[in-house]
Amino acid sequence: MPNNEEILAGARALDARDQLASFRSEFYLHENVVYLDGNSLGLLSKPSEDSLYSVIEQWKTLAIDGWQEGMYPWYDLSEKLGARVAELIGASPQEVIVTGSTTINLHQILSSFYHPTDKRNVILADELTFPSDLYAISSHLSLHGQNPGTYMRLASSRSEHLLEEDDIVEAMADDVALIVLPSVLYRSGQLLDIPRLTRAAHDRGILIAWDLCHSLGAVPHALSEWGVDFAFWCHYKYLNSGPGGVAGLYVNERHLGSSPGIAGWFSSDKSTQFDMTPSLRHATDAGAFQVGTPHVLSVAPLIGSLNLFEEARMERIREKSLQLTNYLMSLIDSELASYGFTVINPREAPRRGGHVALTHPEAVRIAKALKAAKVIPDFRAPNIIRLAPVALYTSFEDVAIAVLRLKSVMESKEYEKFANQRDIIA
Ligand SMILES: *Cc1c(COP(=O)(O)O)cnc(C)c1O
Repeated sequence: MPNNEEILAGARALDARDQLASFRSEFYLHENVVYLDGNSLGLLSKPSEDSLYSVIEQWKTLAIDGWQEGMYPWYDLSEKLGARVAELIGASPQEVIVTGSTTINLHQILSSFYHPTDKRNVILADELTFPSDLYAISSHLSLHGQNPGTYMRLASSRSEHLLEEDDIVEAMADDVALIVLPSVLYRSGQLLDIPRLTRAAHDRGILIAWDLCHSLGAVPHALSEWGVDFAFWCHYKYLNSGPGGVAGLYVNERHLGSSPGIAGWFSSDKSTQFDMTPSLRHATDAGAFQVGTPHVLSVAPLIGSLNLFEEARMERIREKSLQLTNYLMSLIDSELASYGFTVINPREAPRRGGHVALTHPEAVRIAKALKAAKVIPDFRAPNIIRLAPVALYTSFEDVAIAVLRLKSVMESKEYEKFANQRDIIA
């Protein structure tokens, strides 16, 4: 078995061959800390800091004229950035708008495209999905006067952590109107087969919306090619747009032109918005699904972040991400085998996203001890530790250091010093 020095030397050799290694210096990393929580909040990059300050400067120097002048005129910034995000996910520019939050964008999709009839009125989701999506669906059904217990159906999991595509297809019954699924499950990191499930839905006359929170910026997408109906996501995880950064919404072009269910003056056709007519003439691109004035300061960091993604390119990011997670899993197998961890994410590359998920009966205390040892993981109840090495700023050496520190936490039983109680945010 290689000793620690040999492991670290091996990791540095991988870094020396890494084509994306130079992007690391564009981020604010913390001295001697290995940050593996970019799937919850991505780190600040220098280009994002610069674009945020540029927008502040614009406000300072141009005031009201900033809507139309300066480096990033705010009036159509949401459309312009939507077109750039479209590139990342294989969509056409008019199909994407940067707006709202993940949960609000799901509400917008439901209010615009869920039209229950006597025959089709069920919304299908799954029992492992992010709870906010279920709360949104339930509350939306309640607004329609429909009992969520009856009209929201959840595809179930055979194991605790993974879904079988066959089971989801099986749940696509004749009464299902709309399906809402995550591309990557937030706990286990499983990547669902988006093209297959989209085809299966369409074969049965069902619309399908995808929550891309855990895949955007980690996994390439071809939404147009796959014919996906709708998608929504946040930019503050793998896209590093900052806490609460403005989110995104995709509406396939065959659905463009329909009225937004939740409307406001920013749903307007841009050229007539300032006519201020009492009745809305909504845009015919995805911009129609905006509501009010864009949150310009919360969108500004995304500008710089997109510069980095365009330069790095999604295929290269995915390739390195898979190398990082493969390497992480191989070290977990070789170094931590005797400590009772279970890797719960699928092992096959096409079935996983950007993070590795471990379970352990002492997960809470181990996560705390790891943080004290300057490795930042993320804990998800009841017993899951998520580790996300991020292609643009995590090195192979970081991964090796993280595993060696975790090994030392286990060997020394350092974790026993911590309370077996989770923090409010974890
Ligand atoms: C992070 C995340 C969300 C968060 O939604 P917000 O509206 O930004 O709070 C929703 N869904 C999934 C799958 C997520 O991972």
